[in-house]
Amino acid sequence: MDDLVGQPEAERLVSRLRPVALLACPACGTLHRARGIPRGSVATCRACRTKLFGDRRGSLQAVLALNIAALVAFIAAYLYPFMSITYAGNTHTATLFTGPIMLAKEGMWPLGLLVCAAALIFPAGRMLATIWVLGPLSCGYILPGGLFMLRLMHALRRWAMLEILFLGVLVAYVKMSTWVSITLQPGIYALAIVIILLAAADAMYEQRAVWERIRRQNRFELTGTPIDRLVACESCRQLNEVPERKPRLSAFCSRCAAPLHIRKPASIARTWALVVAAAILYIPANLLPIMNWVYLGENWPDTIFSGILALVAAKQFPIALLVFCASLMVPILKLCGLAWLLISVQRGWLNRRRTRTFAYTVIEMIGRWSMVDIFMISLLVALVNFGSLSTIQPGLGALCFAAVVVLTMLAAETFDPRLIWDSAADPAEQSRI
Ligand SMILES: [Zn+2]
Ligand SMILES: [Zn+2]
Repeated sequence: MDDLVGQPEAERLVSRLRPVALLACPACGTLHRARGIPRGSVATCRACRTKLFGDRRGSLQAVLALNIAALVAFIAAYLYPFMSITYAGNTHTATLFTGPIMLAKEGMWPLGLLVCAAALIFPAGRMLATIWVLGPLSCGYILPGGLFMLRLMHALRRWAMLEILFLGVLVAYVKMSTWVSITLQPGIYALAIVIILLAAADAMYEQRAVWERIRRQNRFELTGTPIDRLVACESCRQLNEVPERKPRLSAFCSRCAAPLHIRKPASIARTWALVVAAAILYIPANLLPIMNWVYLGENWPDTIFSGILALVAAKQFPIALLVFCASLMVPILKLCGLAWLLISVQRGWLNRRRTRTFAYTVIEMIGRWSMVDIFMISLLVALVNFGSLSTIQPGLGALCFAAVVVLTMLAAETFDPRLIWDSAADPAEQSRI
């Protein structure tokens, strides 16, 4: 077992005299003593360097207030129009609702549903869950369903994509600004305020501190701790004691009631299936048009690559680079990276485990940014709707590309990074769970 970094020597000696909570690294399973760290510092895993927790002692009331303010601004962002365009004397105004509705009308309802979920349902769900938990908790109690809401907040953190939606607005704005007159409306300013407020709330929020206030971490003695019977909860990181560490557990976390697993179930097979499906769909996603611009009855298809070339031709180099990275490079890097991780785990490689853990963290973090193109299409479909004069319709390529993004995000969530560190030949194995 390792001590946490940043622990003063005197405090370390004192804390050895009393039982302390143990904490398992979510990326490699190494056990640590979970004690306080100096203000402003970050506790990292000694084996894989993954961040375990930070010392963000921001007031929960402040996080609550920021989430309430963000929810109000979020409602305004959806109620007010976000952009209006004028083309050939006609002005068309759209709200953030218009995109998913137009996508559904064009027969692309899965795409409309995805945009609606990522830009409306998941962010709203996350804010409401935060208010549901932190509101009563600031008065010292928790409402029914509070534990589920906390797990929901954790589960939705990658799927609520307001900042990516904002980037999509930016790309759509740049794409259209060369041929139409665009006016930004109050909705877009409200959306910017929501993103700033939520970023401030996230910077102050420490999930571990909230769990500690609801129910304390299980304490296990440092000596005689039955490590071979401990299982870490993937949601709240509580360590639980089980009668036997077997692959198919039917046990639940004693703190948050989430199902417990030694390792994510069938992680390798399921991740491979998702990676292969995404790799197959990546081909039509690039070959088929992601949208069609219908101009005076003529059809102008646009693929991902031709869209980038059009941005380069318009001398919009930073936006062209952004779309190139988000839509072309990120999916390829994710697919190759996940395949490399899967092969390395199946072959039992012992080298570069820290690098591979870092690669997994990056893959998990960047995957959602590929949604930029999908949001951009949704906004263009909503805005460019001038009947027979000019309209933009979604293409089948967009549906395939959205499927690639979702499948690779699910693949990253299904992969268990602790498998990288599982090896009987490793002498440090006895301090991992
Ligand atoms: Zn670790
Ligand atoms: Zn738990």
